[in-house]
Amino acid sequence: MNEEIQTLDKSYYKVKRGVSGLGFFAAKDIKKGDWIIEYIGIIKKNEDVVGDTTKYLFDVNGKFTIDGSPRYNTARYINHSCKSYGNAVWKIVNDRIYIRATKNIKQGQEITFNYGKEYFDAYIKPHGCKCGACKVKK
Ligand SMILES: [Zn+2]
Repeated sequence: MNEEIQTLDKSYYKVKRGVSGLGFFAAKDIKKGDWIIEYIGIIKKNEDVVGDTTKYLFDVNGKFTIDGSPRYNTARYINHSCKSYGNAVWKIVNDRIYIRATKNIKQGQEITFNYGKEYFDAYIKPHGCKCGACKVKK
């Protein structure tokens, strides 16, 4: 049950400017199924973040939330993408959040995942989505 997650080392990714602002890019080829990075931050009780509109809050288990806004949380730079356009997903394992590759990702490609409907409706919809999938539609 206590699966130990081994994430990739920092040489596999880098933050740089992309089409939708800062983004999170593969610096080396990443294989489907690889655990890319952990989403880290300050652990807060859910009751203490009610009404908090910080974008980087991530409910882990209904009891506590990870506030991923500190800059040391490199995973905060991973941009949202709609539908199956992204190449990663987030998974909760042992109350920790990890980003996992759902496709083979080539060096230089941006890594994105779907943030979920709740987040989308609150933070993305009001400004219009700039993800790859939505750009193609236009
Ligand atoms: Zn989109």
